[in-house]
Amino acid sequence: MSFAEIVHKQRNFFLTGHTKDINFRFKQLKTLKKVIIEYEQAIFQAVKQDLHKSFEETFLTETVLILKEIEYAIKNLKAWTKPKPATVPFQLLPASAKIHPEPLGVVLIIGPWNYPIQLIIAPLIGAIAAGNCAILKPSELAPHTSHIIKEIIVKSFDPAYIAVVEGGVEASQQLLAEKFDHIFFTGGISVGKIIMEAAATQLTPITLELGGKSPCIVDSNINTEYAARRITWGKFINSGQSCIAPDYLLVNKNIKESLLLAIKKCIQEFYGNNPASSPNYGRLISQKHFERLVKLLNHGHILMGGETNSSEYYIAPTVIDNVSFADPVMQEEIFGPILPVIEYTDITEAITLINSRPKPLALYLFSNDKNLQQRVCLETSSGALGINNTMMHSGISSLPFGGVGDSGIGSYHGKAGFDTFTHYKSVFYKPFLLDFKFLYPPYEGKLSWLKRLLTPNS
Ligand code: NAD
Repeated sequence: MSFAEIVHKQRNFFLTGHTKDINFRFKQLKTLKKVIIEYEQAIFQAVKQDLHKSFEETFLTETVLILKEIEYAIKNLKAWTKPKPATVPFQLLPASAKIHPEPLGVVLIIGPWNYPIQLIIAPLIGAIAAGNCAILKPSELAPHTSHIIKEIIVKSFDPAYIAVVEGGVEASQQLLAEKFDHIFFTGGISVGKIIMEAAATQLTPITLELGGKSPCIVDSNINTEYAARRITWGKFINSGQSCIAPDYLLVNKNIKESLLLAIKKCIQEFYGNNPASSPNYGRLISQKHFERLVKLLNHGHILMGGETNSSEYYIAPTVIDNVSFADPVMQEEIFGPILPVIEYTDITEAITLINSRPKPLALYLFSNDKNLQQRVCLETSSGALGINNTMMHSGISSLPFGGVGDSGIGSYHGKAGFDTFTHYKSVFYKPFLLDFKFLYPPYEGKLSWLKRLLTPNS
């Protein structure tokens, strides 16, 4: 079937109205949940083959998150889909107003490779809950997972409702030539611009879940052991290939030495003396990404790690000191297991620096100081702010997940996912009871009367 045919079939299916039925949506969400549970081992295997992730890590960062999202959607679907009454100005009475959530239609979801299951299926949950048909395009760089996604979807859903298109840039671009009612894209900033341009030609609304550099400020008022553990985990999980990984540290000078010692201890605790042989430490996705990252090791002073193995796309968990903002490692999103450290003496410096750069997808602050927490929240802008933790906010269904400025447009997870794929239609109803003629021409002589009636607080 050509892409045009898939879209055409989905459009026809959407027009039957089946997806608008809330019971249909419940059923599809339950089907999705069931098949994810059934395929859990196959998913674990596929992600291991693509990214060398342990089963435990895939459970924590992929399957359990999706299952929780499905549960959350099932629990709240009735409330989300219910039309909400809106107030009507007394001058327009008798009348009533309501806001009706309605599905958008046929949507396209394009995913990246780094959390290859979660980042395709979590938007799909929002799309199903909101009553849409969907075409999924997983990343070609995680081929084993892409195949499993295809198998799961083919087994569970009619392609006229949900379909998977496998392939790379070419497939993606051919899909973009079709008309969709929404495009949900997760990936890098440069491809995000291409998606936005393609969507603009068809006037298609978009969600862009992008990346960028997420800074991590560490104040001196912390529990060093806990902070080090949470930073090390967030940075090196999935070998640093997380869109919300702490990209670099901005550390208070007074705490730097003890923090770095604690991070070193954590790396050893997590991955042993030789992370290359740890079942808990991942690999980079491709030769290209490996080579890009190896070049970033050439500047600054490597405090720990730095070992590489090109045949396995392996880079050890690495911490780099004496880094300047002119160094390549600070010029681009790292998206790998390299943690540059920059020290500050006054927090104002750190805040000014963050505000002089593109708005990050996540900003992290480690500090016990409530005033500082408040200050960073008020004086900076980011997709999310994590205080004394990293990455965790992405697993909370009640928190919208998305960027701001260069880090993205729109959000999802939980209700935000439902909203992304929903149009809130305003419905205004007037009975035939009365019809005041003052609203209609001829208007001569009515102005002062209209002013008195309609001007607020007159
Ligand atoms: P990418 O932008 O290279 O690819 C993403 C998807 O776009 C893939 O499916 C790919 O096939 C497709 N694609 C690539 N080039 C294209 C083109 N020219 N035209 C049309 N489609 C194209 O991203 P990636 O390398 O898979 O992922 C890494 C990036 O994604 C990082 O920047 C990371 O921060 C970001 N990311 C963001 C989030 C988030 O939730 N905000 C999550 C994960 C990754």
